[in-house]
Amino acid sequence: MSACGFDMAAEVIAIRMLSGLVRRAEPWTKIAIVGCLPGISPDILKTRFRGRITPIPPNALETLDRLIEAEVSISTIRNNINQPTSRVRGTVSCSPDFVPDRFTNLHESTSPARKAFTTLRRALSNLPTNRDVYDKWISRVHRVQNLLHFNKAEPWIPAIIVARGCEGSCTYCAIKKASGQLVSIPLTSVIRQAKMLFENEKQSIASLVAGDLGAYGQDIGSNICELLEGIFEIDAAFKLVLSDFNPEWLIKYSDRLRGILAKYQHKVDHLKLPVQSGSDRILHRMSRGYKRAELLEHIGALNREAPGLPISTHIMVGFPGESEEDFNQTVSLLDAVRFEYATVFKYSDRPGTPASAFPDKTPESIKRQRLRMLRKKLHIGRRPASGLASDD
Ligand code: SF4
Repeated sequence: MSACGFDMAAEVIAIRMLSGLVRRAEPWTKIAIVGCLPGISPDILKTRFRGRITPIPPNALETLDRLIEAEVSISTIRNNINQPTSRVRGTVSCSPDFVPDRFTNLHESTSPARKAFTTLRRALSNLPTNRDVYDKWISRVHRVQNLLHFNKAEPWIPAIIVARGCEGSCTYCAIKKASGQLVSIPLTSVIRQAKMLFENEKQSIASLVAGDLGAYGQDIGSNICELLEGIFEIDAAFKLVLSDFNPEWLIKYSDRLRGILAKYQHKVDHLKLPVQSGSDRILHRMSRGYKRAELLEHIGALNREAPGLPISTHIMVGFPGESEEDFNQTVSLLDAVRFEYATVFKYSDRPGTPASAFPDKTPESIKRQRLRMLRKKLHIGRRPASGLASDD
């Protein structure tokens, strides 16, 4: 089982699912848990499941070889361009807070699915305690997410893994602890892999996967612009999902990156730029590496130069010390630049992160209130394709 540990909601749900798995498994069944959670909360997993499971953090995947007595070791698969590209089940998440909060033209062709999603989100915010009911809901979530996110004829999106880890040090993030420093796969290998997919296998869509896609290449003397140009130039009909792209790279590569995205906007399924907050004070405390004015300038310019490029974002409410004014800055950022959809979630302490030691935590009731306000706002109406707008 692969488990997400990004926030507390994800951890709680992963542990509930794992408990069900352990309860139903035969005594001789080997259960390994991979993903970020074993790197973030290994002690909780060990205490809770006392020897019944094997937690395998991302930097120790070789442990799987012994556990399953593998004929092909994991080290010969990772980064091996001759192996089939890994298949991931898209962006299915175990956290109810990660259900996107706003659908506009990206998915509007599926209005029944949109309704289903709203129903699911409500249901998930009151997670059923009964195991079977819970399992049923989760499987429905997966089905609907597949419907919404993916081409119906292609329920599995191939993933092109371009890097692991990241260059960031965001104060709320535990993923960095689990995945470590940036390790990029050489450009020639990635392009060969992409050619194999799009030219030989005739795939029409693939996701570029990295801890922070925008950081690609910083450790090997390359960069995201070279990566995107190299892939987009492949002579085939395909689209890329560009996920988890810290906006600081959009700012750093500015005109060049916007030029590439504008030229190839027809080849981008969507670009995910998680801005997290619209307040300079909070962005600084988060250590996000960019400012509000830069977001307005560069995302606004991207809106204007690539009007057909769907951009999504993540917003975190209730970060420690977030005042009403800080929150209002986030709200006004969402009015000023155009996102096709946003995922809004509440801040929660993650073990060992600097933010978890900040003393001025936002009360849970205020976090809930802000979450509700933003979700309500995101569901009401649709903003015009405004691009850069006033900072007020
Ligand atoms: S860029 Fe920040 S939020 Fe993203 S994985 Fe790295 S440290 Fe975490």
